Amino acid sequence: MKTPLHIVKIGGALIDDPALLEAFLVAFTQLRPPAILVHGGGKEATKLSKKLGIETKMIDGRRITDGATLEVAVMVYAGLINKKIVAMLQAMGINALGLSGADGNIILAHKRPVKDIDYGFVGDMEAVNTVGLHKFIQAGYTPVFAPLTHDGMGQMLNTNADTIASTLASAMAGIFDVSLSYCFEHKGVLKSMTSPEESSYPVLRNSDMVRLQGEGRIHSGMIPKIHNALQASKLGATNVFICGIENLACKTDATKIVWNETTA
Ligand code: ADP
Repeated sequence: MKTPLHIVKIGGALIDDPALLEAFLVAFTQLRPPAILVHGGGKEATKLSKKLGIETKMIDGRRITDGATLEVAVMVYAGLINKKIVAMLQAMGINALGLSGADGNIILAHKRPVKDIDYGFVGDMEAVNTVGLHKFIQAGYTPVFAPLTHDGMGQMLNTNADTIASTLASAMAGIFDVSLSYCFEHKGVLKSMTSPEESSYPVLRNSDMVRLQGEGRIHSGMIPKIHNALQASKLGATNVFICGIENLACKTDATKIVWNETTA
């Protein structure tokens, strides 16, 4: 039987609010080790870019990572946010190890090919060094990943944290019994965003996606998040959840994401 491994992705709204970040990290420390944490960027990079006079470039509502934006992303994600989380976890008795995909060559990626849009220095993941990551875990560390990868030729790449979590989950599923949790500011995928106190979906499958999108019940960041979650379920993660801080451990009212091949 494989050893359980928790992989948890923490969303931007929780990173941006000091009280929520603290509450999240307390909940994270209560998970049975081993565990891996993946964090996104939150609003800090946009704030620093503004201070430095670097304009945020968007095309069709998509953020473009030019050279200056990448520098800020590396400073903020791998520096400020990653080290803040690592230091907070250390204070909670967890031997956290802050990593980007370049450290230990854990995540190799390539720059997204230019089709209609040039996204700039954005990474699409290629390979996970599962042996290296396993060694960190065996040594007793709790890896904390910033949403950055490298191309093996010296180029850092801005990489979607939800995709990093999903890809790490499927890669590590060869070694561990992986539970992947996308933790954000709600208890799960809500049936109605206008009344969040109401119930969330207990289970969502790939076969539900077209209907839910059509009905407008899921939108914006939730759509790629569920797609990433479905990929992890399809590619070997034992359990995949979208949840909040309160139900990170117990999963009460969380949404379980399940790939059902028959309707794929
Ligand atoms: P994160 O930083 O947590 O990854 P995203 O912005 O990528 O956040 O995705 C989470 C967002 O998805 C929520 O803040 C919410 O606004 C939006 N969302 C869309 N549909 C739903 C839904 N049905 N239930 C909960 N959140 C939803």
